Amino acid sequence: MADETNTSTTTGGASSGSRSEGSGSPAGSSSRGPRPGGSGGRKFFRRKKVCKFCVEKIDVIQYRDVRLLQQFVAERGKIVPRRLTGVCTTHQRALARAIKQARNIALLPFAARY
Ligand SMILES: [Zn+2]
Repeated sequence: MADETNTSTTTGGASSGSRSEGSGSPAGSSSRGPRPGGSGGRKFFRRKKVCKFCVEKIDVIQYRDVRLLQQFVAERGKIVPRRLTGVCTTHQRALARAIKQARNIALLPFAARY
């Protein structure tokens, strides 16, 4: 049995990372010219930072509403932090409770298995 080290890092976030590490510096022929940088853009979707539940006026978050809850659960089963989803604190807490309840009756996974 091959003993594989766990590649699970604590850095949260489901980022399908494709790092391009210095691929192809274009022809630095004579001297070190100015770097052709400038593409330092962050790849984050900037959604509307409005709490979904406030907008839709959902007061009580039903733990049975799995489809709703799954929007706030990462693929691994983690609850997506508030700063990514834009949910307000009040609803984030209610949401977290609902997710935990849903986990207990096996509607949502605790963690995805690999
Ligand atoms: Zn809210």
